[in-house]
Amino acid sequence: TAVLNILNLHKNYGNQEVLKGIDVTLEAGKMLALLGPNGAGKSTTIDVISTLSSFSSGTVQVCGFERPFQDGEIRVRLGIVFQNSVLDERLSIKENLSIRSSLYTSVKRKSKIQEFVRLCGLQEQLNQPVGTLSGGERRKADIARALLASPQLLILDEPTTGLDPQARRQIWQLIKELRDKQNLSILLTTHYIEEAEHADDLAIISQGKIRMHTTPEHLKAISK
Ligand code: ADP
Ligand code: ADP
Repeated sequence: TAVLNILNLHKNYGNQEVLKGIDVTLEAGKMLALLGPNGAGKSTTIDVISTLSSFSSGTVQVCGFERPFQDGEIRVRLGIVFQNSVLDERLSIKENLSIRSSLYTSVKRKSKIQEFVRLCGLQEQLNQPVGTLSGGERRKADIARALLASPQLLILDEPTTGLDPQARRQIWQLIKELRDKQNLSILLTTHYIEEAEHADDLAIISQGKIRMHTTPEHLKAISK
C-alpha cells in the first residue's frame, strides 16, 4: 500500500508555475529520494504535503487521507524534518522534546523521549542547550522531535546538507535504521546525486517536473 500519493500536483507563486504536474508514490516501508538541483521544487512539494503551502490543483494523499486534511488526521501519521532546525537553541534537547511531546496526548511520553533520544544517539547531549550542539547532533535532535508523533511517514528536507562527511554517514545510518527497525516510510529530498544511492527509489525532479522514476542501480548504470 502507498503511504504517500501525489497526483498531477500544480502550484504557482504569482505568475510562476513552480510545480508542473508532480506525480510521486511512496510504498510503505520504502525510502524514496526526491533528487534534483536547487530551485527544482523539492521544498515546495514538501510544504504542500505538510500543509504549509497551498496548491493550485492535483491530489495529495497521506496515509489514506486526502488534502484538505481534517483536524489531526496527519498530525500523528506524519513527521517532518525541515531544512532549518525548528528547535529552540536556548533550551536543551530534553526541554525541546518535552514541549513538543505535550502535543501528543498518547501514553508514556517520558519513556518515548528516552527511546528516541537513544535511537538517535543523543543520550550524552540530552541536557545540553541545542545552541551548543554540532550540526549533526542538531539534525539528529530534529529527527528525534519528528519521531515524537510516532509517524508512519517521515519526511526529511535535505537531511545532510551542511554536514561534514562523518555526520552525513551517521545521519544516513540513522535514516536506514528508522526504515528497517522502526518500519517507517521515508521521503527525503537531496541535491547530492552521490547520496541518492541510499534510497530504494528515486524521483528525479527539475523545473517543477518529475523527469524520471528510477532506482539508484539503474541511475548508476545509465550515467556511466
Ligand atoms: P528546491 O527545494 O528544489 O530547491 P523550491 O521548492 O525551494 O526548490 O523552489 C522552487 C521554485 O519556487 C524556485 O524557483 C523558487 O524560487 C520558487 N519559490 C520558492 N518559494 C517561493 C516563495 N515563497 N515565493 C515565490 N517563489 C518561491
Ligand atoms: P493538524 O492539521 O492536525 O492541526 P498540523 O497542522 O499541526 O496538524 O501539522 C500537520 C503535520 O505536519 C504534523 O503531523 C506534523 O508532523 C507536521 N508539522 C507541521 N509543522 C511542523 C513543525 N514545525 N515541525 C515538525 N513537524 C511539523
